[in-house]
Amino acid sequence: MKTGSYLDGAWYHPTSERTIKNLDPADTSEVLAEFPAATAADVDRAVAGAQAAFETWSKVPAPERARVIWRATEIARGRVDALAEALCREEGKILREARGEIMKGISVLEYYAGEGFRLQGRTLPAETADVFTYTIRRPLGVVGLVTPWNFPWAIPVWKVAPALVAGNTCVFKPSEITPWTASNMVEIFEEAGLPKGCLQMLVGYGEDVGQAIVDHPAIAAVSFTGSTETGLAVYSRAARRGAKVTCELGGKNAVIALADADVDAVVGAVMNGAFGSTGQRCTATSRLLAHESIVGQLTEALVEGAKGLKIGPGMDPASAMGPIVDAQQFESVLGYLEVGKQEATLCTGGGKAAGLEQGYFVEPTVFGGVSPDHRVFNEEIFGPALSIASVKDLDQALEYANKVEYGLAASIYTQDVGQAMRFVEGIEVGMVHVNEPTVGGEAQLPFGGIKKTGVGDREMSTDGINFFTEEKTVFVNYAGGAARNFNR
Ligand code: NDP
Repeated sequence: MKTGSYLDGAWYHPTSERTIKNLDPADTSEVLAEFPAATAADVDRAVAGAQAAFETWSKVPAPERARVIWRATEIARGRVDALAEALCREEGKILREARGEIMKGISVLEYYAGEGFRLQGRTLPAETADVFTYTIRRPLGVVGLVTPWNFPWAIPVWKVAPALVAGNTCVFKPSEITPWTASNMVEIFEEAGLPKGCLQMLVGYGEDVGQAIVDHPAIAAVSFTGSTETGLAVYSRAARRGAKVTCELGGKNAVIALADADVDAVVGAVMNGAFGSTGQRCTATSRLLAHESIVGQLTEALVEGAKGLKIGPGMDPASAMGPIVDAQQFESVLGYLEVGKQEATLCTGGGKAAGLEQGYFVEPTVFGGVSPDHRVFNEEIFGPALSIASVKDLDQALEYANKVEYGLAASIYTQDVGQAMRFVEGIEVGMVHVNEPTVGGEAQLPFGGIKKTGVGDREMSTDGINFFTEEKTVFVNYAGGAARNFNR
């Protein structure tokens, strides 16, 4: 394992006094590695190297840049098991989910390798004869990428790949909780032949290295994924100095189950959405708004499902749900479980998992009788906790669903196309599902939210390219110098 930062094509050990302990959340006595923490001073060096690299990389033809991404795709495909194991051990999600995340990132790499052959502008008619008007896309320069711990492979990949293929160079700060997976990604790009300085990685703390990236005058754009509180501060700081910014933030996603819903399908979707990845997904299902005629039946089935989930270390093939990522999140989730017990009905779970004291394990928890005033209904818990509320009809379900300040994903279960289409129109989120779980995203589809979940452009798809480029409008007059008539 590489245990440093990566600058100008070489692994580098910052000489700061602080170190970052990479712990196994399934067994906190196991220190996987120690990383010396980079500091704000390292950001200056990283930016200088990235600026120098930009001069060359931005002039490499885009299909040639794409080939580097393609080689990274092939290398990653050859080491799926090793990548998944590292991810599982430092983040905690079970091995099957870790593998799924690696495969998702590989799809994103594939997609952006293809985009290198299609970095297209637009050709549009001019108002005047003998004038040709079109647009081209140009890279921005050095871009800053700041990422969270919960998808430590997929999220860095979906920022780095479009940034690079569009011709930018990157200063990347992964979450300090998951530096191993981030280093694995950088190593893959290094082996794929990415020139030095194009991808600078600094393993350090958010308030130090992260903030220095956000504030650096030579960083043209900042792409941030993380909590709403940090993200909104990042957005305003970077925007104030004129940088382009996109932030993908927290979520509080609802599944609506109408009276005609396929109950088994709802149970499957909610089990996956609420407890998959230990509830630590921005798209996790944290609310079920069920029609009053089926709320009892659904609650019973979900409680039974939660009780049957085998909790344990992600590396154990028998485990169906792994630990919470670290001590801070563990305390925060346990705090919310206490809040839920005060304000709603605890149906199952509600505390630490018995017999697993060596790690940050909590029980999958279901609260019933939740009302829209409750904190567990409104606030992102980011753990395996589901709040169930009863609703009379679609209108009330929409009112409840839209009440929260977040707007990432939502889903409806119904056989009625009219109801489904009214939901698609009325729900205030960036990603809408019909008869599908709230989770998931695909490389070719825009990913992101509205309200306090997202500010700035969407990620993945061509939106990722649009964020990391500027569009330049070109007017070419080939009338041999004849004056153009601007007085129409
Ligand atoms: P945080 O906001 O705590 O951290 C995100 C990143 O920001 C980390 O790298 C962190 O560094 C860094 N950071 C912290 N403070 C600053 C600062 N002042 N300036 C710049 N960077 C800073 O989020 P989490 O890592 O806890 O991630 C969980 C959150 O991410 C959840 O709210 C989840 O919903 C959201 N998320 C949203 C997604 C979306 O697409 N909408 C997708 C995935 C997650 P450090 O680790 O050192 O603190």
